[in-house]
Amino acid sequence: MNSLRFPAAVMNNPDIYPKIRTFRVSLDRKLHIEKHERYKGARGTHGFTQPGIYFYEVILSLKVVTPLQLNSIVLEIGIARKSAIDKKKYIEGQQYAYSMIAFYHPACDAACVHVVRDRKVIFHKTLMKNKVDEECRLVLGFLLNTDTGTWEIYDIEKDVRLCVVRDVNCDEPLFPVISGYNPSEVQATATFGSGH
Ligand SMILES: [Zn+2]
Repeated sequence: MNSLRFPAAVMNNPDIYPKIRTFRVSLDRKLHIEKHERYKGARGTHGFTQPGIYFYEVILSLKVVTPLQLNSIVLEIGIARKSAIDKKKYIEGQQYAYSMIAFYHPACDAACVHVVRDRKVIFHKTLMKNKVDEECRLVLGFLLNTDTGTWEIYDIEKDVRLCVVRDVNCDEPLFPVISGYNPSEVQATATFGSGH
């Protein structure tokens, strides 16, 4: 079992680190998306309740099977109220849902991730070229602080904070969600890192 690796900025913050509640995030199903699979997404079996500061890790592997087409979404990683999660585990565009989306980005001619809030792109990063057999692996750390209503996203291997989503409404429990969209184009595997 993996131990969580905390970003230095989190470990060195005395207001945050001692208060972090790490618990094992279990999904209601395994997330491995391959060609011809109907399976779409997974949701955490437990929600993050207020008050609390939570940290969890997602290890993500992506591989291009066939080049992505215009407007293709690859993957969504987020948190959302149970009522905002549909049967396929999609949460994009819902009111009480916050997510990072991997998609085909024509401007970069690549698979990129972005986070959009209030119609503004607050984070953007290219993951891999849009070519067969291109691969990428990311270890993402997520810090949800229900006291301040912030959801921070870290690149654990590079130990940098990628993005802060603010005004996260934590009045009701938020569940971690991952969903895959186009298994015929991109093969995706996501694993939740677990606590000690
Ligand atoms: Zn891009």
